[in-house]
Amino acid sequence: DLWKARGHVRFEDVVFGYSGDRVILPDFSLDIPAGQTIALVGTTGAGKSTLAKLVARFYDPTSGRVTLDGVDLRALHPKDLRRAIVMVTQEAYLFSGTVADNIALGKPDATLEEIKAAARAVGAHEFIEALPDGYGTDVNKRGGRVSAGQRQLISFARAFLADPAVLILDEATASLDIPSERLIQDALQTLLSDRTAIIIAHRLSTVAIADRVLVMEHGRIIEDDEPDTL
Ligand code: ATP
Ligand code: MG
Repeated sequence: DLWKARGHVRFEDVVFGYSGDRVILPDFSLDIPAGQTIALVGTTGAGKSTLAKLVARFYDPTSGRVTLDGVDLRALHPKDLRRAIVMVTQEAYLFSGTVADNIALGKPDATLEEIKAAARAVGAHEFIEALPDGYGTDVNKRGGRVSAGQRQLISFARAFLADPAVLILDEATASLDIPSERLIQDALQTLLSDRTAIIIAHRLSTVAIADRVLVMEHGRIIEDDEPDTL
């Protein structure tokens, strides 16, 4: 039987440093109920990506624990963890291969119909169909034809297909043209529904759609509010 996570994430008295005595998160506790969308903001070096990486278990805490549905991440089977928690970073939107391959990374046994359904869900289907070879277009060979916004949409389709309980998104800082900005926002709304989401947000429009905004500074949360109260 496949274990399906609900998506309740907790940091319990987490202390974390990458190496040596330099502590990045001095004493971090946070409860994220299943289904909540968190926007994480704060100055550079505050520890936002570090927090995200601890949820994705790229690192383990020095002390304390991070749990998913009450289970220490260290106790989860790596397969279950990878299925339950997906991180979309701005560096690695596309890999070499076709557009379809890139979306299917979210679910290796996906059919083309499932791939297309995921692309439709996030509003990527139209531009993909318009590419020289549609879903068979090699993103490397004709990468120049895929804009930054379109690359982001493809990565959203991949995440949608993977359907994780917890989605972590490091939002692109690169400015997008206006139509794709709107497309991205609509895609985000679809992508975030029915799952827990932690977004390192660079856009005000993203902060606005969050249930909760956390402001980080020096490895601590200095504000924790609904978006309209900030
Ligand atoms: P930004 O907005 O610039 O992305 P951030 O809030 O994501 O910043 P982090 O990347 O979490 O900040 O970095 C927090 C601190 O940890 C910084 O002082 C950074 O230099 C340090 N740091 C980040 N990654 C590593 C690493 N792999 N090894 C050592 N130190 C690191
Ligand atoms: Mg960062």
